[in-house]
Amino acid sequence: PYDVLIVGGGPAGAAAAIYAARKGIRTGIVAERFGGQVMDTVGIENFISVNYTEGPKLVASLEQHVKEYDVDVMDNQRAKKLRKDGLIEIDLESGATLKSKSVILATGARWREMNVPGEQEYRGKGVAYCPHCDGPLFKGKRVAVIGGGNSGIEAAIDLAGIVAHVTVLEFSDTLRADAVLQKKAASMSNITIIKMAQTTEVRGDGKKVIGLTYKDRERNEIYHLDLEGIFVQIGLIPNTDWLKGDLELTRFGEIEVNSHGETHIPGVFAAGDVTNVPYKQIIIAMGNGAGAALGAFDYLIRSSVE
Ligand code: FAD
Repeated sequence: PYDVLIVGGGPAGAAAAIYAARKGIRTGIVAERFGGQVMDTVGIENFISVNYTEGPKLVASLEQHVKEYDVDVMDNQRAKKLRKDGLIEIDLESGATLKSKSVILATGARWREMNVPGEQEYRGKGVAYCPHCDGPLFKGKRVAVIGGGNSGIEAAIDLAGIVAHVTVLEFSDTLRADAVLQKKAASMSNITIIKMAQTTEVRGDGKKVIGLTYKDRERNEIYHLDLEGIFVQIGLIPNTDWLKGDLELTRFGEIEVNSHGETHIPGVFAAGDVTNVPYKQIIIAMGNGAGAALGAFDYLIRSSVE
């Protein structure tokens, strides 16, 4: 068996693999797609100490760094079940089962998409999902935020300090964000909130976003907004479907961890976007991955599992 088996090959999983392998223990990493969300990222400007990089480039260095160590890398493999029976077992869709004394779950998350025409075409060309990452790219421009929940209104307040104007489009007739956030947003002169608005299309000029179209669901009328950016804030879905029934999840489907990255099952750790740790960012996922690996090492030196 492995000493540490990591499920997920994004920043959290890669960091965990390096930290575990540096302890000289038997380490494996199994991932559906090495690199995770970073593979889909265009420009990265907030990975501290690197002024600017691009997703695939950062993934290539991550992979190279992992391969410097004695780590079994199993790419293109999807985990489908976790069991603990003395050792922890991970069943793969391929039919194989991997056994380990400890496991670090780092299967990440994905942004919920609007699923409207233009969204995919203009992803990274005006359509964005992460205000902390891409907000500064829209300095002085006009943007929309789709979604009036906490993340949408937080994004609007955050962006309003950078961009010229923010229009929030909420599908229902009420905002779901906390009252204090709603009050703050209402006090900012460059935020407009439109309720009962269903975004129907992202419009572009072939190269970048130039606007969006929405339907006023009350009047059943179509409107066009001219703008340069669209931040989609309608949810982040943790990749935990495969763990349902095997592990307790929060009501958002996240894995709950303590400060050592431990879950409620001894020997099972988790790190990165898949957990309830707030602020989903590369540097945070890496920090959590390192912490979970050290947590797993601590667990191993204290446990009697052979
Ligand atoms: P992920 O990156 O989601 O990796 C999850 C890994 O688990 C992948 O390898 C995946 O294939 C694997 N996996 C999932 N399910 C299974 C399974 N069942 N079996 C096996 N493997 C599985 N953050 C920043 O800090 N700066 C930015 O500029 C930035 N820009 C972003 C732009 C976009 C478009 C997106 C989508 C995200 C951006 N982020 C950015 C956020 C950042 O990418 C994430 O916070 C980070 O990747 C989380 O790392 P992770 O390792 O927890 O998860």
